[in-house]
Amino acid sequence: MRYFKPDFELHHFSDITVEWLERNNIQTIFSDLDSTLASHDLPAGDELRNWINMLKEHNVQLVIASNNSQERVDRFCDPFTIIGFGHCKKPTAGEVKKHMRAINAKEETSLFLGDQLFTDIWCGKRVGIKTALVKPIGQEHEPIQIVFKRKIENWVKKRW
Ligand SMILES: [Mg+2]
Repeated sequence: MRYFKPDFELHHFSDITVEWLERNNIQTIFSDLDSTLASHDLPAGDELRNWINMLKEHNVQLVIASNNSQERVDRFCDPFTIIGFGHCKKPTAGEVKKHMRAINAKEETSLFLGDQLFTDIWCGKRVGIKTALVKPIGQEHEPIQIVFKRKIENWVKKRW
């Protein structure tokens, strides 16, 4: 079960501060969207807006990597002028690796940020980059299949 253990366990994306990024030498963040940065299918809040601005000011590139539709990803990304990819097929690594190459991101300075072990963290590990797990945002909005996955995740977490 240790295989699934992320490099970092955080409460919230805002735990990623300028100091944290410098300490861990992160220059690119591949992030899940739903329940990681915003409630499922809902737009971004003020806190997220400030966080994205902080990343931009420090030249840390944020790239959305979601299994949701490209339309959902575009609706989210466009106001921030950040790039994002839908249908990423996480936990497989192929799509994310392809996007990584396209923007010239390096394994050593990239992070995968997400709220699901068997989707986001597993994907990040397969890609070969650092991984950070956050507590899901707005769980009351989550579809039933994700609620079920949470139960399995909790079982695994008790065993690492
Ligand atoms: Mg998610």
